[in-house]
Amino acid sequence: MKFAARMSRLGTETAFEVMARAKALEAKGKSIIHLQIGEPDFTTPKHIIEAAVAALREGQTHYSPSAGIRPLREAIVEEVYQRRGVKSKVEEVIVTPGAKPILYFTILALIEEGDEVIYPNPGFPIYESVINFVGGTPVPLPLIEEKDFRFDPDEFRSLVTNRTKMIIINTPQNPTGGILTKRDLEVVAEVARQRKILVLSDEVYKNIIYEGQHESFYSLPGVKDFTILLDGFSKTYAMTGWRLGWGVMPEELAQKVEKLMINSNSCTSTFSQHAAIQALKGPTDEVDAFVEEFRKRRDFIVAGLNDIPGISCITPKGAFYVFPNVKNLNISSQKLEHHLLNEAGVAVLSGTAFGKYGEGYLRFSYANSIENINTGLERIRKALKNLSN
Ligand code: PLP
Repeated sequence: MKFAARMSRLGTETAFEVMARAKALEAKGKSIIHLQIGEPDFTTPKHIIEAAVAALREGQTHYSPSAGIRPLREAIVEEVYQRRGVKSKVEEVIVTPGAKPILYFTILALIEEGDEVIYPNPGFPIYESVINFVGGTPVPLPLIEEKDFRFDPDEFRSLVTNRTKMIIINTPQNPTGGILTKRDLEVVAEVARQRKILVLSDEVYKNIIYEGQHESFYSLPGVKDFTILLDGFSKTYAMTGWRLGWGVMPEELAQKVEKLMINSNSCTSTFSQHAAIQALKGPTDEVDAFVEEFRKRRDFIVAGLNDIPGISCITPKGAFYVFPNVKNLNISSQKLEHHLLNEAGVAVLSGTAFGKYGEGYLRFSYANSIENINTGLERIRKALKNLSN
């Protein structure tokens, strides 16, 4: 088959590939501890499930408007006001199957050949993949361990050119768990305003934060006109399999994204959208408990990793990932990923799955029980001894 040339530019998310390899080993009887998956291991809160069941029983089984049902878009407008202090309109909100399509469709609508997009590296691999796919030029912005995986403002400014069309930021961050400070966000806002650059602010981990409050780019004064706010239900509410996300963006862009929805998904699942209203408006106790449980696991895994010779790990402030430095083990991150899966039966991701600045690191997701994390760490300790023998 002769594929379109653009397919050679499309990247992937290695997490899904490692999961497939891990499952193949499990099928052969090998025990695997899964620390590669970017999704909460909790069940979706009960009241949200009940709302979905009720919606199905009420007959919410038909197409919905492509941009989303109005009551959900209104609830999102309210949530953005409550959480970010910014007034938006229903016409600026688009609901999509997961937050990924907001990323994909806004880049598809805006970026063309020759346009440069600055994006965090290491970062969510889909940024680089989609920029390449549409013919844009990805410009990696290094995130630096010594700065708690924030970027250097001078380095950031040096990457901006006359061709920069968009800047992607992500806080709390995948894969490092780092968060950007208000000052970092202000630097981006200053540059974007001066140079008329669009900003895509990916805030899907905004609720999973262990110190202080989430600083949203969207809350900065005067940025709304050039910002796409991307958020969703997957991570906060343990709803990855429901496929529910949303974006808030200037109305003229929202119209283009709606058109892309019409041409692709038609709409997001209707009964899921009804349940999503309950996610936004219902009780938060279960979601708060998720974060407290993640905090315990974070402290456990950070201490455990730092106890393994050759590994050092800073304490992340958000999300449910750690990004330990493994440079002292003198093996490439990719080889180490394979060694740990095949020898230790522990599935983790090479830092390079998140871009070239991820070399020398691994990503662990601690969306797993303390018991399993403990077993995983013990196995890694043993497997690394074999490595040096
Ligand atoms: N943005 C980041 C940084 C992510 O890590 C993910 C998922 O892993 C997404 C966006 C997309 O999430 P979803 O499409 O499940 O809403």
